[in-house]
Order: sequence, then structure tokens, then C-alpha cells
Amino acid sequence: MRPVVNRDNAYFFEGTRDQELRLQKCNACGVLRHPPGPACPDCGAFDRGHVVAAGTGTVFSFLVHHAPQVPGKELPLVIALLDLDEGVRMVAEVAGVPPEGPDGLQIGERLAVDWNVIDDELTLPIWRRVEGSRA
Ligand SMILES: [Zn+2]
Repeated sequence: MRPVVNRDNAYFFEGTRDQELRLQKCNACGVLRHPPGPACPDCGAFDRGHVVAAGTGTVFSFLVHHAPQVPGKELPLVIALLDLDEGVRMVAEVAGVPPEGPDGLQIGERLAVDWNVIDDELTLPIWRRVEGSRA
């Protein structure tokens, strides 16, 4: 399943291709936002830029997706709502954690971005746990 790349989010996927996690930034007031949109939710300006995020964040909440099937994915998927260190919240697919049990993901755990190179055109962020960050 490929994301739909459009004028509003092209900067994001151009970034992931270079293994950069880009966050949209309002050039008028400096607020960061994700997901991208045409206008700033804070000041309404259309002047957009981006910054490159550090690629680390803290799990705000998560869910384990068992159904329905997602094309090209093996279920279950662990999907986190991640508070990036830059202060924006992002949906994050988490790799390398069991879907449940004592080693499962925990709220408050730290994640770091990694890169899932699909092909020459598309690289997607995937998130992995930062060892030693569990409460
Ligand atoms: Zn703004």
C-alpha cells in the first residue's frame, strides 16, 4: 500500500527518501505541524516550510491492529501515537515489538525512527524502541 503523495505532503516523502523526517513549519509564526496541510492552524498563513526532526519521540498511546488486513503488511501491527521531541504528534508504525505480553510496547516508552526502503521512489519511516527507556 503506497501513500498518496500530493502537493501538501510531497516534502515529507522527499524527506523520507533522503532518510529525513520532515515536519511542516509555518514560515509566518514558526509553529510546527503534522500531518501537513495548506494553511497554518494557528495563524492561517499559507507560507510553508519544514524542519528536519531529530527522529525521536515518546509513546503517547498505541493500539494493536489485528484486522482488517492491510495490503503488504503482516498483522498484527503495533501503531503508536508518538509525541515527537519537537512537540508534534505523529502516527508511528512500530517494528520489533511483540503485539502483547510483558515485552509489549508501553506508554511513555521512547522510540527512534528507522527507514523502510520500499523502492527507489519510496522510503517510509518505521519506529523502533530505544532500549532502556521503559519505565
Ligand atoms: Zn502560523
